[in-house]
Amino acid sequence: NFIVSGKKVWITGHRGMVGSALVRRFQQENCTILTASRDELDLRNPITVRQWLKDHKPDAVIIAAAKVGGILANDSYPADFIHDNIAISSSIINGSFHEGVNKLMFLGSSCIYPKFAAQPITESALLTGPLEPTNEWYALAKIAGIKMCQAYRKQHGVDYISAMPTNLYGPGDNYNLHTSHVIPALIRKFHEAKTQSMNEVVVWGSGKPLREFMHVDDLADALFYLMANYSEYEHINVGSGQEISIYDLAVLISDIVGFKGKLTFDQSKPDGTPRKLMDSSRLSDLGWEGKIKIQDGIKNAYEDFVLNH
Ligand code: GDP
Repeated sequence: NFIVSGKKVWITGHRGMVGSALVRRFQQENCTILTASRDELDLRNPITVRQWLKDHKPDAVIIAAAKVGGILANDSYPADFIHDNIAISSSIINGSFHEGVNKLMFLGSSCIYPKFAAQPITESALLTGPLEPTNEWYALAKIAGIKMCQAYRKQHGVDYISAMPTNLYGPGDNYNLHTSHVIPALIRKFHEAKTQSMNEVVVWGSGKPLREFMHVDDLADALFYLMANYSEYEHINVGSGQEISIYDLAVLISDIVGFKGKLTFDQSKPDGTPRKLMDSSRLSDLGWEGKIKIQDGIKNAYEDFVLNH
């Protein structure tokens, strides 16, 4: 077990939704959080990353930095997605090893499992089938990161682990309707409809797909738990087990926002995969449990949206 209290932890990607939740969570513990701003350090550059590690000497590193985006961004900038993500993982993992960091956590994503993985998705499904073609650039880079952690563990005996978060939402989410995921998109659509007294909101697809969602503060709590209690070769799924249909989700968000009009479903928009649920039984067997119900989580995300957007 790794004692986090009293340690120096470098959280990369601290401005993002996940990184900022990690900073909030680790601040509650007696540890020193290190962060580097984008101007100060280009995480894709192995030389400057190594120097930064030499200068700051973290005891542990969390890779929450990544180039992320929706289907459009992935399809339009495949070179950036594959290059930047491989370069970030490679610089940080190799640099950390050479500067004596023995504990590191890398983050994957549920979208890097094969497109047709059996549901609920277990850890062993990784690399058993073709990827979703629109995000294969991102997925391949993330899979390389997981494999790097395994390789450094195998060759050098360092305690480098990987976690696979499910679909996330919460403060600091992306509310751009062209690139966002469904929860922030619907929060924004219902809010704008309410404030502009519109009587209809359009939801994409049939409403039938099922999705699992996790509030980012629950994720941060799970990752904190894993930093302290997990040190295995295999990556570990981090999901909430809370599955909901897009229809029920839309009704829930409209209630929370206080929109009184009607919902219409635009069937010309894609449904995407019918169901996306991870098997997180290994995490629950370790003794971690989520606390945030989707109703409370979305209320919190909506408060953040109103405050900051
Ligand atoms: P996915 O989980 O990778 O499919 O990503 P999304 O979060 O973008 O979409 C999840 C589901 O929500 C899909 O079936 C979408 O069609 C549906 N959906 C309904 N309304 C919206 C919306 O306004 N924006 C997005 N992104 N998805 C929506």
